[in-house]
Amino acid sequence: MTYSANGHGADTGRGVSVRARSLGVVSTPARTLPDRRSAARLAARVAAGESSIGRARRVGRILRALAAAYPDAHCELDFTTPLELAVATVLSAQTTDVRVNEVTPALFARYRTALDYAQADRTELEELIRPTGFYRNKTSSLIGLGQAVVDRFDGELPARLEDLVTLPGIGRKTANVVLGNAFGVPGITVDTHFGRLVRRWGWTDEEDPVKVEHAVGALVPKRDWTIVSHQVIFHGRRVCHARKPACGVCTLAVDCPAFGAGPTDPEKAAPLVKGPERDHLLALAGLGPTVPASPDASA
Ligand code: SF4
Repeated sequence: MTYSANGHGADTGRGVSVRARSLGVVSTPARTLPDRRSAARLAARVAAGESSIGRARRVGRILRALAAAYPDAHCELDFTTPLELAVATVLSAQTTDVRVNEVTPALFARYRTALDYAQADRTELEELIRPTGFYRNKTSSLIGLGQAVVDRFDGELPARLEDLVTLPGIGRKTANVVLGNAFGVPGITVDTHFGRLVRRWGWTDEEDPVKVEHAVGALVPKRDWTIVSHQVIFHGRRVCHARKPACGVCTLAVDCPAFGAGPTDPEKAAPLVKGPERDHLLALAGLGPTVPASPDASA
């Protein structure tokens, strides 16, 4: 295997493209990228129906690469109790975790129990969560959530999926976030990033989140469901963007049938990488941190 720009940069034959070297940013031996032919072969094999053993091995390699890329992957919502995580996850709909984390300190200081939400003054609660958007609907969900937890679960957030999904504002995705991160029960969180990436990897063709969850659950050891969910979502937010994935610096590239969905030239891909692990990710790709981030990097 060689680290080439997949036809976009001259390959030195020693694993680093001439264009990457010309940037003066090569700091460590580069991870390999597939050449054009092997990338096409993998895509064709996956499209035709990969053998189960072949897919299991490829899944295993992707999981190991994700673990190396994101050793600190975690839930990016701030919380200290299961109820706080449930509330934060309700608020995270249609907005960023960063925005949610900006409003929750004041919110959690004011509303500590399910009863507090059940008895909340609607106008006051709306004002506190307004920056997260859709605040009227979210206020209804939080008040309803508090009332349901008080009425049916003695004020304690339940720790079972089948109970959590009966609560206002809590769907299966939210329930799995809460189970995995607040209760230590393995859960797969299928958000927009997760679904996009596992389809790109050919782990499933399903669009329905529940079917995606079951398909991935059959490929990934159950004990790893929660951490793998974080790692996949991290990769989707930092590298494998919806519009312009940074394929040319992606450490999963040799095992990804969608390699080429974004720029394969490291010089063009590197500016698309974002997030606090940017330097680490570029180092894994053999590039130094001097490549500036692009405002074009979109999640
Ligand atoms: S960035 Fe490109 S190579 Fe990496 S996982 Fe996404 S589509 Fe595949």
